Amino acid sequence: MIDFKQVHKAYRVGGRSVPALQATDLHIAKGEVFGIIGHSGAGKSTLLRLINRLEEPSNGSIVIDGEDVTRLDAKGLRRFRRQVGMIFQHFNLLSSKTVADNVALPLKLAGELSRAEIRQRVTELLARVGLSDHADKYPAQLSGGQKQRVGIARALSTNPKVLLCDEATSALDPQTTASVLQLLTQINRELGLTIILITHEMDVIRRACDRVAVMDAGAIVELGAVTDVFLHPQHATTRRFVREDEALDEGEQSADFAHVDGRIVRLTFAGESTYTPLLGSVARETGVDYSILAGRIDRIKDTPYGQLTLALTGGDIAAAMGCFERADVHLEVLR
Ligand code: ADP
Repeated sequence: MIDFKQVHKAYRVGGRSVPALQATDLHIAKGEVFGIIGHSGAGKSTLLRLINRLEEPSNGSIVIDGEDVTRLDAKGLRRFRRQVGMIFQHFNLLSSKTVADNVALPLKLAGELSRAEIRQRVTELLARVGLSDHADKYPAQLSGGQKQRVGIARALSTNPKVLLCDEATSALDPQTTASVLQLLTQINRELGLTIILITHEMDVIRRACDRVAVMDAGAIVELGAVTDVFLHPQHATTRRFVREDEALDEGEQSADFAHVDGRIVRLTFAGESTYTPLLGSVARETGVDYSILAGRIDRIKDTPYGQLTLALTGGDIAAAMGCFERADVHLEVLR
């Protein structure tokens, strides 16, 4: 759906060139939820805004659904922008207009539907985002989560092929974040819409995305399926994001196991192997005892996973490690 070929962007500030995106190749498939994570200044917004040409690339080509959008004229650009919806961190709703009028606005500007057709479409969109009872309210009368639902309905009004989400849940509390992400993944499933979201929170990536790109200093430093990147991060920046996410959930920083005896290993289970009663059978077979030092069982989108840090003592530790390696489990020796 989206193809970046050697896309490069530098801003000109007071005659100087400020690099924001190094020459980047990126391919995003139709129907996927693609996340871009990075710290502030990494180049996420620049990359996102290049997709709907809110920014012009300094170099390279951007092909969206078969069309080179860097070559569009003004009329072509207006038509193209209707195919790319966008939602924002601070919602960007018009405070003087009702919920229904905010959602209707892009349709009125497009000028293709009659008033009755627009009314019908707005009713459907508000039902989709769970706001049927709020059509006549003003944005100030809504919660943050409801405002973002209006933003989503408005972004969907012109039937886009792609939805861009610019830190769409960063102004929301964790519970509201979860419900907005659930709505986005439902829309992705039901409409087959390609969704690209940028965030600085690994939790958002873990809940919603199929694939993720990690950005640092204007470059993509790691890219892959969220299960791979999250469970086996390679780049230092990715590792930091994963650790931050773990610390949030467990309320603990990386533990110091200096006082613990034995061989320390981390086991990662994903998918069906999460439910295999492996620890007991290995302990019985090899006589190894274990204490659990840290652990987490959760989901990455629809995939259950578990990560356990164990201290192994007694028995035949080499045999136990062999059993873990033969099972559908990833084993890492920490000490
Ligand atoms: P992020 O979204 O990851 O915070 P941005 O894409 O906003 O990163 O910024 C990447 C780099 O480009 C930063 O160094 C930022 O200061 C610079 N930048 C972004 N927008 C502009 C602009 N309009 N003019 C000049 N520099 C900009």
